[in-house]
Amino acid sequence: MKSALVCGAGGFIGSHLVTRLREEGYWVRGVDLKAPEYGPVDADDFMIGDLRDPDTVASAIDRHFDEVYQLAADMGGAGYLFTGDNDAEIMHNSAMINLNVLETCYRQTIRSVFYSSSACVYPEHNQVDPQNPLCSEDSVYPAEPDSEYGWEKLFSERLYLNYGRNYDMNVRIARFHNIFGERGTWRGGREKVPAAICRKVAQTADGGEIEIWGDGEQTRSFLHVSECLEGILRLMRSNWAGPVNIGSEEMVTINELAYIVMDVAGKSLRLNHVPGPLGVRGRNSDNRLIHEKLGWKPAENLKSGIGRTYRWIEQQLDGRSRC
Ligand code: NAD
Repeated sequence: MKSALVCGAGGFIGSHLVTRLREEGYWVRGVDLKAPEYGPVDADDFMIGDLRDPDTVASAIDRHFDEVYQLAADMGGAGYLFTGDNDAEIMHNSAMINLNVLETCYRQTIRSVFYSSSACVYPEHNQVDPQNPLCSEDSVYPAEPDSEYGWEKLFSERLYLNYGRNYDMNVRIARFHNIFGERGTWRGGREKVPAAICRKVAQTADGGEIEIWGDGEQTRSFLHVSECLEGILRLMRSNWAGPVNIGSEEMVTINELAYIVMDVAGKSLRLNHVPGPLGVRGRNSDNRLIHEKLGWKPAENLKSGIGRTYRWIEQQLDGRSRC
């Protein structure tokens, strides 16, 4: 039986990854500051611990694992990452986690390590035209991410690549583009835009109004978490390190996303555009490289993933109103 460690197993993508690895027959240990908020603890062994602390990391990685998946990060939506108020914390926390986890993997002679980077590494100057953003993997340098979160991801990508090169480790690096789905944060300030819009639409009566940050003409693409897992596992099972985009090429404006959610909900609402933190003006995944190297592209369209996510958020709201 293969064994895996998932760091960040209490989080959105990490908890789904634990479930998927268990389904594939792995023995899985998960570690996180917290247990998954919205789903079961599927791991064979789940440790609550702070990966900024080297002693905690030593206990989490106290044995050999066939594979380590490093998804733990100080993370959030635009309201957390792009205001500037949390930058020192974001960089310090995530860099500490990556330094500790990778060094401990090396000392335990663990060879296969996955690192979750982000589309936030791409230079701001290539993402000013909302209809023509450039996010091919090789466009990342000269570097100019628009957030400190992106700079930390870039630093850590280089850390993983250098451990791979100097210590003969099989590191695999993916740059995720806006992953969404069931069991993702949907309230509280750290939620991402698909969950935030689903929640607002679900909470508003037909004919009402929801708020959208900015003019809503900024573009993004969104990938359902099930597709993301497929991309991660294909990358881990390939002999190619990346970094590679894991995202969707179905680019929409935020206004269009809101209309997709309304369509799924069967509601017609007005959009009230208000000031808010926005991130870059345009961003889309460029999947040419992952398609060439792994033969991978998303299998479903945005609307079907949004449909499942919307219904899940509706259930969360129903559950809360019954409490
Ligand atoms: P998430 O916030 O749900 O999961 C991250 C987990 O890391 C959380 O459960 C958190 O408690 C844990 N964590 C944070 N600090 C920790 C610490 N000191 N010790 C132990 N655990 C700690 O985020 P997610 O959406 O599941 O993202 C997973 C990874 O993918 C992150 O590295 C994130 O930066 C990256 N990523 C995600 C997206 C996305 O759209 N979801 C996009 C790009 C990159």
